[in-house]
Amino acid sequence: TYKRVHNFNAGPSILPEPVLLQAQAEMLDYQGTGMSVMEMSHRSKEFEAIIQTAEADLRELLGIPQNYKVMFLQGGASLQFAMLAMNLRPAGASADYIVTGAWSRTALKEAQKLGTTRVVFNGEGENFTRLPEPAELQFDPNAAYVHFCHNETIHGVEFKSEPVVPEGVPLVCDMSSDFLSQPVDVSKYGLIYAGAQKNAGPAGVTIVIIREDLLARVPEKMPVMLDYKVLAESGSLHNTPPCYAIYITGLVLKWLKNLGGLNAMYEINREKSEMVYRAIDESGGYYRGHARPEARSIMNIPFRMASEELEDLFVKEAKKADLIGLKGHRSVGGLRASLYNALPVASARALVEFMKDFQQRHG
Ligand code: PMP
Repeated sequence: TYKRVHNFNAGPSILPEPVLLQAQAEMLDYQGTGMSVMEMSHRSKEFEAIIQTAEADLRELLGIPQNYKVMFLQGGASLQFAMLAMNLRPAGASADYIVTGAWSRTALKEAQKLGTTRVVFNGEGENFTRLPEPAELQFDPNAAYVHFCHNETIHGVEFKSEPVVPEGVPLVCDMSSDFLSQPVDVSKYGLIYAGAQKNAGPAGVTIVIIREDLLARVPEKMPVMLDYKVLAESGSLHNTPPCYAIYITGLVLKWLKNLGGLNAMYEINREKSEMVYRAIDESGGYYRGHARPEARSIMNIPFRMASEELEDLFVKEAKKADLIGLKGHRSVGGLRASLYNALPVASARALVEFMKDFQQRHG
């Protein structure tokens, strides 16, 4: 027997219980090999099947078109901030950035170190509470790409549709914290990247989906581990990939498929997030959501209370009730509930009940 908590961690975060149980069952002897996936060659036929199945399932779930490559890389989404700029922005060219929160701001800063950028929108003056209106986005028609972050994990603002960019300018997206939470039209993107440690699997693997024609932009003499062309053409096997993280991601993808895919997942995510937003909105200002209603994320819900003392007490009492990971990011404070795919509806309900109870006792 074991105890599982209501896990609202922002990442690394909750994984589906059936995935953990299968990993446990296969730990000592993966499918009759007499070894764990951690102990096998990345060139073995068993691991080849693991990585190829993971890619096939990802392609099926997201409907990734044939002219896109999938990579399983290391270095986190943070390395992609630099890598995408190095690979996709030719010398002398400029890239457009939409800055809607801490993560897209960090992506911009990395790209600024390496070349020319233009900030098309910056929500920082409004404390990253909203998304740009379409009319606010005046793109450079010659931009090497347009970068945006689909869901800001810290500020809790999430795009509801892709920004419309000029014909021929590739759209590049950090999808780390809402990857696989809902269907996506991949064909609208030049490149999508996501650290796995929210919805897709454990930390240690970053998924990159790139339209093949963009590989022609990769400059000569790129260090191989930063070279999309080498990594894509080797099927993520230029060197030793993060084998175990890829295996767990593969199990998560199977779990998602069994559940009915991304449309079914989206319905569940909407239900969970609506429950929590309703609790905030019906609290009469006792809980205050950070993001404007039309920008609200279905994954990460940052909110505040009247004082830091009250927020600390909330976190402390929540922990006693097995509601874990509700402290806001250290850069903004307050509270944050992350409701990733694997979080059961019952956990969202437990949070809502706790919020109401806390307000009654301390409000
Ligand atoms: N982008 C987003 C949206 C994130 O949420 C995070 C991590 N929380 C990162 C990038 C950075 O990811 P990593 O730690 O994998 O580098």
